[in-house]
Amino acid sequence: RSKKLQDGSWCWYDADADEDGRRRGQIAISLRSAIADGALRLVFQPQISMKQRELLGFEALLRWNSSALGEVSPAEFIPVAEQTGIIVEIGDWVLIQACQEATQWPAPIGVAVNVSPVQLMRPNFAERLTEILDETGLEPTRLEIEITETMLIDNPGQALLVLRKIKALGVRVAMDDFGTGYSSLSTLFSFPFDKIKVDRSFLNALGRQAQATSVIETVIELGHKLSIPVLAEGVETDFQAAFLKDRRCDEAQGFLYGRPVDSSTAHALAQTGAWQDDEGALGKLSA
Ligand code: C2E
Ligand code: MG
Ligand code: MG
Ligand code: MG
Repeated sequence: RSKKLQDGSWCWYDADADEDGRRRGQIAISLRSAIADGALRLVFQPQISMKQRELLGFEALLRWNSSALGEVSPAEFIPVAEQTGIIVEIGDWVLIQACQEATQWPAPIGVAVNVSPVQLMRPNFAERLTEILDETGLEPTRLEIEITETMLIDNPGQALLVLRKIKALGVRVAMDDFGTGYSSLSTLFSFPFDKIKVDRSFLNALGRQAQATSVIETVIELGHKLSIPVLAEGVETDFQAAFLKDRRCDEAQGFLYGRPVDSSTAHALAQTGAWQDDEGALGKLSA
């Protein structure tokens, strides 16, 4: 498409890119007041042990119901929040809420929180985390931080220092979306991870793409050889669950076991601790 410029000449432009930019601008503006507006909330998705068939904890996932834009997915607004820097404030809010929530659950049920590179690389992140744990009273061992490996590539030296500080507090660190980045093996080798979360694209490819089987098997085996538990993300079908169990995958998370639920439902699940079969209670609680 073409567009007339102010000087009267014409040029080509990309209407989609324009539309995209406008949307991102709206998101950036509305996000600024999202906390004050009370428009953010957390939902909690069960993480289970495949062997013991018990609830280990929940991953806290952010939701935003904007008065101007409606419900916006974190996949869309987190990148904008990172670009504008507002993620630091939002991420702080998420950590406080998640830790507070977890203190309401019976120990040792824990909470996993996604932390953005922008937030983690702030000079005082570990100190801030210490404060939040103190203020909420959550035992550090019940908190897990989920990070993606892309964050470790830009500044590996500083990343390693922060991760060491976090771990010294007793907080665990999980590598999220494993297999989708650029240097999975070297990051596993150089950083002290407590868990590997296999990206759900691999599970999704199971039974559709021949290599998916080998890739998942290899990651599970790698984790076991390094003594790092492996969690499979995005488990949706009995077929996938059976495959993982057969390969001795340690942990799982996905719609089969439970969709992300609100805080009162998470609380009820944590209280009963009732763990049924794959098709059982959690799966039917879908929000
Ligand atoms: P993630 O950390 O990899 O979270 C898992 C995503 O997969 C969640 O999407 C979850 O709802 C979805 N999921 C879980 N099980 C299944 C399944 O069986 N099938 C399918 N199709 N999807 C499943 P969600 O909540 O939309 O979050 C998307 C991403 O946004 C997250 O990916 C994470 O990277 C980011 N995010 C979410 N909350 C936060 C947050 O509080 N802080 C930061 N920095 N990022 C967050
Ligand atoms: Mg995550
Ligand atoms: Mg993930
Ligand atoms: Mg993801």
